Amino acid sequence: MIVEQIWTGNAYRNFNYLIVCPDTGEAMAIDPLDHEKCLTVAKNGGWDITQVLNTHEHGDHTGGNGPVIAATGATLLAHAGAKDAIANIDRGLSAGDIIKVGKSVELECLDTPGHTMSHICILSHTDQPALISGDTMFNAGAGNCHNGGHPEELYDTFAEQLSKLPDDTLIYPGHDYIAGNLGFTLDREPDNQRAKALLSEVENQDPDKAMVTTLGLEKEINTFFRLHNPSVIAALREVFPDMADEPEPKEVFLKLRMLRNDW
Ligand SMILES: [Zn+2]
Ligand SMILES: [Zn+2]
Repeated sequence: MIVEQIWTGNAYRNFNYLIVCPDTGEAMAIDPLDHEKCLTVAKNGGWDITQVLNTHEHGDHTGGNGPVIAATGATLLAHAGAKDAIANIDRGLSAGDIIKVGKSVELECLDTPGHTMSHICILSHTDQPALISGDTMFNAGAGNCHNGGHPEELYDTFAEQLSKLPDDTLIYPGHDYIAGNLGFTLDREPDNQRAKALLSEVENQDPDKAMVTTLGLEKEINTFFRLHNPSVIAALREVFPDMADEPEPKEVFLKLRMLRNDW
């Protein structure tokens, strides 16, 4: 499996993706907002885009569907529940569905509500798994919930699905937000050495060659996986003095999400 991360260079800092079967050259374009760039990368690689997949219904993820499908005749895949929000879905996806790309690539659909209520993440069935996480999870962060989402569902997605994936899972998010998110982590946990070191590494990185994290690394530097951390809890208590002595992880997550909205 080839994962091609495509940096759009737009104001929203979107990443688009091509997932390619190296045996047949068939490719799936994920959230191909920068359709010209996606088509060019496919052409240069000698790959045929046969499927387009949207992680969710927001315009910065679906905006390139039309031109990519017009140019390639690809079929469109998205969450089955997004049928009224995304035009012309050919295949509605549910949790556990398997998506094949070419001969050798097998991807699994995870139903991951929270950022929106019809958001999917894509997990590869490869020796080292890869997760295309859309706007559910970012490097060092979590998606917001203000355009059709719910923080409680997002917590459930993190607790019941994402945190249970193998630690070596590669994380491919829908946006390049790593530097800002590490700033938020360090604001809660100024003593987080791993986050500090990583921030100096990625602060001036070329997004065309962006660092790819693993879930294991995320658990060290992403506040939304660090719900039992004493520094995180102590810093939250300064803002929310009424917080329980030993808060439930869900309470910590929801307060972090709330705080991040205005940070
Ligand atoms: Zn979104
Ligand atoms: Zn987005």
